Amino acid sequence: MNNKYKLIYEGKAKKVFSHEDADKVIIEFKDDATAFNALKKAKFKGKGKLNCLISAKLFELLINNNIPTHFLELENENTIIARKIKVIPLEIVLRNIAYGSLCKQTTLKPRTVLEKPLIDLYLKNDELNDPLITKDRIELMNILRSKDLDFIVDLTLKINEILKSFFKSIKLQLVDFKLEFGYDLKKNILLGDEISPDNCRLWDLNQNNDTIVSLDKDVFRNDSGGLIEAYSEINRRINDFI
Ligand code: UDP
Repeated sequence: MNNKYKLIYEGKAKKVFSHEDADKVIIEFKDDATAFNALKKAKFKGKGKLNCLISAKLFELLINNNIPTHFLELENENTIIARKIKVIPLEIVLRNIAYGSLCKQTTLKPRTVLEKPLIDLYLKNDELNDPLITKDRIELMNILRSKDLDFIVDLTLKINEILKSFFKSIKLQLVDFKLEFGYDLKKNILLGDEISPDNCRLWDLNQNNDTIVSLDKDVFRNDSGGLIEAYSEINRRINDFI
C-alpha cells in the first residue's frame, strides 16, 4: 500500500487505511483466514483478492437495489474505496436454514428450513467471544437506539431477499450470513464490512444427491476441501452472471 495512506485499523481479514478525502477509507483484503475466534489460523494465497472481488460485486448488486452500503468503488483486485463509518459493535446474523451454532445451542436439527428468516444478534467483542445478545441488553449498554436497531433488522431482511434470489439464480443456497453496519459522518446507517464466503454459508445446488457441498469458510473450519477452489467457484459463477 502506498505510504501516503496511514493504516488506521487492522482486523483479522482486512486492513483499513486513511484516504485523502476525510469521509473515505481504503480497505485491503488480506489472505489470512481465521475460525473459532482466531483459534484456527492459516493463510491462503489469493483469498484476499477473491473476497474483495466477490464483495464488490455483491455490494453493487445491493446498491442497485437501494441498499445503503459503504462501498464506493473497487480500487484494485484486493482493495476497495469505501465511505468511512463508525462500526456498530454488533454482528447481525440472518439464517434461512438451521446450521452451525444455532444447532449447537438449540434442539433444531441441522438443515431444518426455517419458516421465516431468523435474526440473531451478537456483541462484536473478541474478549467476550462475541456472545449472543438481546435487544434489551443492547439498549442497556446504549449501543444504539431502538429505532436504529429496527432499521438495521429491516435492512438485513431486505438484503436477504436480494441475496437469496441472486444466489439461487447461480445455483447456490444462501443458508446464513453475518452483516455489520455503521454510521457515516452524516449519521446515516450503512452496511459495512464485506459480503463473501468468509461470512456467508453457501451450498451448491448443483447436486443430485443429499450431501452438502459447502462453497464457503466451512471448508476451512471443517478441513473439508480447498478454500481457494471453493471461493474461486463462487467468483466464477458471480462473474458469469453479472
Ligand atoms: N459468522 C461470521 N463471523 C463470526 C461468526 C459467524 O461471519 O464471527 C457467519 C458464519 O460464516 C455463518 C453465519 O455467520 O455464515 C452463522 O454462523 P454461526 O453462528 O452458525 O457460527 P459458526 O457455526 O460459524 O461458529
